[in-house]
Amino acid sequence: MANVTMDKIVSLCKRRGFIFQSSEIYGGLNGAYDYGPMGVQLKNNIRDMWWKEMTQLHDGIVGLDASILMHPRVWEASGHVSNFTDPMVDCKQCKSRFRADQIDLEAPCPVCGTRGSFTTPRNFNLMFATHIGADVDAASTIYLRPETAQGIYVDFKNVVSSSRVKIPFGIAQVGKSFRNEITTKNFIFRSCEFEQMEMQFFCKPGTDEKWFPYWREQRMKFYVDKLGIVADHLRWHQHGPDELAFYAKDAYDIQFLFPMGWQELEGVHSRTDYDLTQHQKFSGKDQTYLDPETNERYIPYVVETSAGLTRNVLMVMSDAYEEQELEGGDVRTVLHFHPAIAPVTVAVLPLVKKDGLAEFASKLEHELREDFATDYDQSGAIGRRYRRQDEIGTPYCVTVDYDTLQDNTVTLRFRDSMEQERVKISDLVERIKKATKEYKRV
Ligand code: ATP
Repeated sequence: MANVTMDKIVSLCKRRGFIFQSSEIYGGLNGAYDYGPMGVQLKNNIRDMWWKEMTQLHDGIVGLDASILMHPRVWEASGHVSNFTDPMVDCKQCKSRFRADQIDLEAPCPVCGTRGSFTTPRNFNLMFATHIGADVDAASTIYLRPETAQGIYVDFKNVVSSSRVKIPFGIAQVGKSFRNEITTKNFIFRSCEFEQMEMQFFCKPGTDEKWFPYWREQRMKFYVDKLGIVADHLRWHQHGPDELAFYAKDAYDIQFLFPMGWQELEGVHSRTDYDLTQHQKFSGKDQTYLDPETNERYIPYVVETSAGLTRNVLMVMSDAYEEQELEGGDVRTVLHFHPAIAPVTVAVLPLVKKDGLAEFASKLEHELREDFATDYDQSGAIGRRYRRQDEIGTPYCVTVDYDTLQDNTVTLRFRDSMEQERVKISDLVERIKKATKEYKRV
């Protein structure tokens, strides 16, 4: 990702169908984005990788899909109604809006340069309010959830009583969250509608001391080993006393080196029994856990891993992006996605359209669909077609040529090294699976 700028990412995302601005033909809507054919596949692949990691590869983690609309008391209990605010200021001169904690109020307005033009900071609640039912009044006010975690907490007892989970166990959920963000710059980094991948791990008070470092290690490993992110582009940031929520025991963020600098990607937080205790207080319903072996009753402690899925997409795009100068001065734009998350895994290309090569290649592409996400491209010079695939991060191109018709072999071309290998069609699927398993970012 050397020298990658956000403008380059935005432009590639639009050009190749990863991400579009929402409602673009109407001038767009701030903080809302559409994921195009390539983008939705990439996002789904990251989500599926996370889901498998959590619910399949770890012991005792079950899934949940809670609704976006919840009882408004949930957000009173969680503290979001009273505390989920950002201080906001406006420039009286140019009407630009800023988060007061992100700018120096003594300095001139960063947009128009006027000095002393800011309004006094006002607290602004980030939750989107709407109404349920026909009456539009205070009693019908509900919120679009600003995080997925609360859905997990309020279903804690349902999960315990309906499945065979025993503490320690976790509940994982992926879904949309909404925040009326004051500043939405930096593309999809901070949007008003976004997706989160959260896992709340319930454990016996005291054992959080063991689980907290465990989950920190697991989450970092996931990004490097599974998503193939360059390890040097990730780091930890521990919350200082001024950042730490009053109920939290400890909190770390995984930060990624985005084009605009180091920023949070995921939070791993030790939240104690705060959330369940609050829900017990506000709902009047018992939230304790009875240990079937020791007969002890307690409200479990929670270690939370909370990642942005859409923010993960931005990380993966920026980490993968490279413009390489080739011999002869040509520049190729290539996305070094880990093959396991690339939107297209294999592209099949006939060297030429005639003499039955196109038919052969198209048939082969159909056969490969059983195992891989494929693409077929027969138009233009072969070099141009390789470039097109490089630009969407396709790790493998399979070229069908005249020899193929004689001996049932094809050329397998690797995206990162651009090396080519002659492979028997009967070995192709296994060869690609092996290369994916052994993939190392260079
Ligand atoms: P910030 O301080 O940057 O507003 P936060 O610390 O409030 O974020 P959390 O509430 O911990 O964020 O949310 C967990 C994760 O959800 C974040 O690490 C981020 O990846 C993602 N996330 C939060 N807000 C947004 C947003 N507006 N757009 C995209 N992703 C978001």
